[in-house]
Amino acid sequence: ALKLTNIHKSYGRHQVLKGVNLALAPGEVVSIIGPSGSGKTTLIRSVNGLESVDQGEIVLFGEDFISAGNPRVSSAMQKGIRRIGMVFQGFNLFPHYTLLENVMLAPRYHHQPPDRARNRAQALHLLDKVGLLAHAGKYPHQLSGGQQQRVAIARALALSPDIMLFDEPTSALDPELVGEVLKVIQNLANEGMTMLIVTHEMEFAMAISHRVVFMEQGNILADATPQAISRPSSGQSLSRVRQFIGLEG
Ligand code: ATP
Repeated sequence: ALKLTNIHKSYGRHQVLKGVNLALAPGEVVSIIGPSGSGKTTLIRSVNGLESVDQGEIVLFGEDFISAGNPRVSSAMQKGIRRIGMVFQGFNLFPHYTLLENVMLAPRYHHQPPDRARNRAQALHLLDKVGLLAHAGKYPHQLSGGQQQRVAIARALALSPDIMLFDEPTSALDPELVGEVLKVIQNLANEGMTMLIVTHEMEFAMAISHRVVFMEQGNILADATPQAISRPSSGQSLSRVRQFIGLEG
């Protein structure tokens, strides 16, 4: 579904991504973990064009999506055949719209025909899916952070995305609200959604992911299954991952 090849990115003289290679098959769930400043957020933002890359290639669904110095949307994306849903650390809901309106607004930005009744039914379905149907008429400020993030997920799903990107979706939440958001993401994984997730929730990453990618200083140091990472007698790079997630002293 997604293939990143030799991605380089610098801010001034600071090399943030130093030749990253990463591939996701359809239905695959991949988590990116690693120390602060290792380039995780920059990498995931480059996938949907929020960051430009200096070198390398991003191919989405078999179509050249972005090449270095030539950020362009593939024709499949332009035609709306393929879509990327993204969920950020901050929820970025429209404060003066109800939850239902927030979710209903999403497709409108993507030039879907304004079939209001269908749009509304779909938005209600998505709010139900994230457990917030009863709150559809409320405004974002009436909700907890966890609930707001669940609305943000519903809004991203309103685009009928082929792939979902999550950039530290629980980092802004009080600890007791993290679980409800992770559960929604877990449900999406169970449904077979292709997902790339930057997270600091190690247990979650290990539980949900087909593969866990460990980044350090702009490089992918390890790309392995949770099973391989859990195995004590793994090699040097996996040993570093095990240390990072607290499995090894
Ligand atoms: P964290 O876990 O703290 O979010 P991260 O792994 O996601 O970290 P990035 O946010 O990708 O790391 O940042 C990588 C490096 O790039 C950091 O050193 C950061 O300061 C730098 N950086 C990010 N965005 C910019 C920018 N717009 N201009 C200059 N430097 C930036």
